[in-house]
Amino acid sequence: MTPRAFLSLGSNLGDRAEHLRAAVAAVAVHDPYRLSRVYETEPVGGVAQDDFWNLVMELTTAVTPWELLERAQDVEKARHRTRDVRWGPRTLDVDVLWVDGFTSADPRLTLPHPRAMERAFVVVPWRELAPDLISEADVARAAGRVVVLDTLEMLH
Ligand code: ATP
Ligand code: CA
Ligand code: CA
Repeated sequence: MTPRAFLSLGSNLGDRAEHLRAAVAAVAVHDPYRLSRVYETEPVGGVAQDDFWNLVMELTTAVTPWELLERAQDVEKARHRTRDVRWGPRTLDVDVLWVDGFTSADPRLTLPHPRAMERAFVVVPWRELAPDLISEADVARAAGRVVVLDTLEMLH
């Protein structure tokens, strides 16, 4: 069976729907994918900024996790992501959460993503796509308030 990969996509600066749509297209290339609904999330870290829009993407792909990270970082760059303020506003953040059958402790690509399970904006949309990986109890344990908005298709 072709492995599943799950990625977390977030934006809180500029045209958030547009950034997310660009990220989906750039990460998927020709691979089949499914998307969770989009959730609105209060930013963490105490820096005043707009709410985040977050979703999780499932990709069915034979490409390596490193290739996925490269796709993620390329589209962040293309969307002019800057890193001026730690935990500050960003046009786009794309994290690789999980790839079936793969683990890595490399700091440049740690899998599963070490902080994913702490975050409601990750586990809530992730459970929509993968109830086999994320349980109701995982959702209850994760921190942060998230509000469902709509599908990415319907948002603008
Ligand atoms: P967090 O990882 O806590 O969500 P962040 O997304 O703000 O924080 P970034 O500044 O976007 O952090 O990324 C820092 C580094 O994390 C990147 O240079 C990347 O190489 C590395 N990294 C390690 N594991 C992963 C992963 N699973 N997905 C994406 N980046 C990763
Ligand atoms: Ca992140
Ligand atoms: Ca990141």
